[in-house]
Amino acid sequence: IYQEDSLIYSIFLEKDFSALPERLNSVSSKKKKALIVTDDQVAKLFLEDLKNTIQESFSAISVCILPAGEEYKDLEHIQKIYQAALDMELERKDMMIALGGGVVGDMTGFASASYLRGIDFIQIPTTLLAQVDSSIGGKTGVDFYHYKNLIGAFHMPKLVYSSMHCLLSLPKVQYASGMGEIIKHALIHNEKYLPYLLEHKEALQERNPEILLETIYQSNRIKKYFVEKDPYEHGDRKFLNFGHSLGHAIEKVADFSYSHGQCVAFGSLMALSLCKNIAKEDILKVQELMEDMGLETRCKALKYEDIFEALSKDKKQKNQHLQFVLLHHLCSPYIEEDISKERIEAVLKQYMRSE
Ligand code: NAD
Ligand code: ZN
Repeated sequence: IYQEDSLIYSIFLEKDFSALPERLNSVSSKKKKALIVTDDQVAKLFLEDLKNTIQESFSAISVCILPAGEEYKDLEHIQKIYQAALDMELERKDMMIALGGGVVGDMTGFASASYLRGIDFIQIPTTLLAQVDSSIGGKTGVDFYHYKNLIGAFHMPKLVYSSMHCLLSLPKVQYASGMGEIIKHALIHNEKYLPYLLEHKEALQERNPEILLETIYQSNRIKKYFVEKDPYEHGDRKFLNFGHSLGHAIEKVADFSYSHGQCVAFGSLMALSLCKNIAKEDILKVQELMEDMGLETRCKALKYEDIFEALSKDKKQKNQHLQFVLLHHLCSPYIEEDISKERIEAVLKQYMRSE
């Protein structure tokens, strides 16, 4: 079990919920109330256990259960959280607890950033994607019309508690989605990480808790490294968006039929192919690892024009030039300001099935 103390907050990786009361000590008390926010899928699996475990850590606990799914990540459902907070008379000193995947984490984070101009919240991420990525770094928010994460705030959780036992019930697609972000981490930082993943791929396929714990630890370190360097994404934090330009475009054009991490995997392969100095063998190695982790490496046929339209609408793209995170070599990211449409078309052709 690792304990990671940073200037911002603590991240705990544990095997189940039993260490929670102790970990909560520094942020909870009998004087505080807590509102647990979760979704209807996660509630069935972990809500009772969580409530029982932390009962003694707060003066009162209420629950707000949202419908599961990205389509409910909107302001309407943020209002449900405010309503639940109001119903239990949640005050400035109290806190919210996000129990769930990235959707619940982003929404609870945003609700707690705005309720009473900001109250504390903690993250108990239950998907691999949320444990390795979305629960760390303080980005919170909701979608608005068809714009993903358009409305949001930076709001750091007081602590993050990831439990390995949550990952056992995760559907294959969701597990693979987290692997998409993990492989991305290994491409942008820490040269030892990709070999580690390759070496332990069987254990990762079997969801071996010890290897998962080490993997999540390494991924958290990488995310933390970039977030601490640049919390508000003016510079180096952008490197975490490797694979995300084309990834987001595909996610949108495919109408969210692929998971986020799956789109990041497509985008990462395409970005790797846009890099000048990455060897073919390295790309093949990454592709094989993705396949072993349950990720597809050929995207369904989508219209190139739609992808370009989505790319130019991406809120991360400045003016007309298409900005991409690329690699000088493995684990050495930089921002490429101007990539021609022709080069992008070439990689789309390479990784997209033709009808
Ligand atoms: P999700 O929260 O929708 O969870 C996926 C599904 O798995 C849901 O149906 C959920 O009910 C279910 N689930 C959750 N935990 C489970 C478990 N342990 N066992 C079985 N089922 C479980 O999706 P996600 O992939 O976790 O998160 C995606 C969201 O994260 C997106 O909205 C994305 O924008 C956001 N995100 C945010 C950041 C950030 O920095 N804030 C980074 C990456 C992604
Ligand atoms: Zn992502």
